[in-house]
Amino acid sequence: SPTYGYRGRFAPSPTGLLHAGSLAAALGSWLDARKNRGKWLLRIEDVDQARCIQGVDQEIMAQLQACGLQWDEEVVWQSKRQIQYESALERLNELNQLYPCTCSRLTIAKALAALGKPPDRNQEMVYPRTCRPTHISPYKLGELQHGQSAWRLALPLDLQIEFEDLALGPQSQNLSSEIGDFVLRRSDGLFTYQLAVIVDDAAQGITHVVRGEDLLSNTARQIYLQNLLGLVTPKYLHLPLVLDEHGEKLSKQTKATQINTQDASHSLAALRQAAEHLGLHGLPDGKSITIAQWLLAATQAWAIKPLTSF
Ligand code: GLU
Ligand code: ZN
Repeated sequence: SPTYGYRGRFAPSPTGLLHAGSLAAALGSWLDARKNRGKWLLRIEDVDQARCIQGVDQEIMAQLQACGLQWDEEVVWQSKRQIQYESALERLNELNQLYPCTCSRLTIAKALAALGKPPDRNQEMVYPRTCRPTHISPYKLGELQHGQSAWRLALPLDLQIEFEDLALGPQSQNLSSEIGDFVLRRSDGLFTYQLAVIVDDAAQGITHVVRGEDLLSNTARQIYLQNLLGLVTPKYLHLPLVLDEHGEKLSKQTKATQINTQDASHSLAALRQAAEHLGLHGLPDGKSITIAQWLLAATQAWAIKPLTSF
C-alpha cells in the first residue's frame, strides 16, 4: 500500500555524466517514489569540489530530463551547505565524539604493520586509533574549523550495526573492526560524504534511500551518525549493480556509454536497458510510445515486483 509522505532522492556526484549504472540507480529510485506516490528529490553531491567537473551538474540534469525523470522541489547543491555540516560536526564535538588526527596514509600503514595487521590492498585501512585520546572532551570551535588535522569519529570499541535492507534483507556490520574511526572532516577542511549525506537526507526529510549496491557498505556508518545526532533513519533499498561484460562495476572511469540527451529514441533505449538491470522484463519495446507512456508502464511493473527478486 502506498506510503503517505514518501520522500526519495537521487544524489549523483558531478564527477562524470550519467551512464548505464547511474541511470539504473536514478530510475530505480524514481520508480519507487512514483509507485509510493511520493516525492523524488535531486541533490548534487559536489561536497568534494576538487573531484567535480564544472558544468556536469547541469548536464546530469539535462540527461535526467531527457529520460523523463523529473524531480520535485528545488535541487540542492552540497557545496552550498557548509554551515549545516559545520554545525553537525560541532554537535558531535559537544558530544565528545570527535578527535583530531594528523596521520598520513603511510603512518597508518606502518602502525598497522607494527600491530601485525598489514593492510589488505583491496580494503580501506581500519584506522588503528593512533591519535585517539583516552578521554575525549570538546575541542574549541576554531580548532574544528581551521585545524591542520582530520577529524575522526571515536567509535565504541565493539559496535555492531544491524539494519534491514528492503531488497537484500538483514544486514550487519561491525563498525569498530570492519571500518574503524572514520573521518568526518579531512585535513584540507572538506567534509566527507558520510557526514554530508546524513545531514542532507535529514534536512530533505528523506524517508527512503534507494541507491546502488556499491553504497551498501556505507549504510551502517550513516545509521550510526543518525543515531548520534538524533536524526531519523530512513529505509534503505540497495539496487543491484550494473556490470560490464567482464563482470566489473561500471564506473565513470571505464567510460561507460553515456546517455545522449538529444535523441528521444536513445533515451528510451537507455531507459529500457536500465529497466532490464532492475529486473523489469517485458516492458514495451519503445516503438511508437512516448517516454511518459513507457515510464508509466515501468512504474506499474515496479509496483508489482517483489523487491527481493533482483
Ligand atoms: N553521491 C554518491 C554517488 O554518486 C551517492 C550518494 C548516495 O546515494 O547516498 O556515488
Ligand atoms: Zn592519527
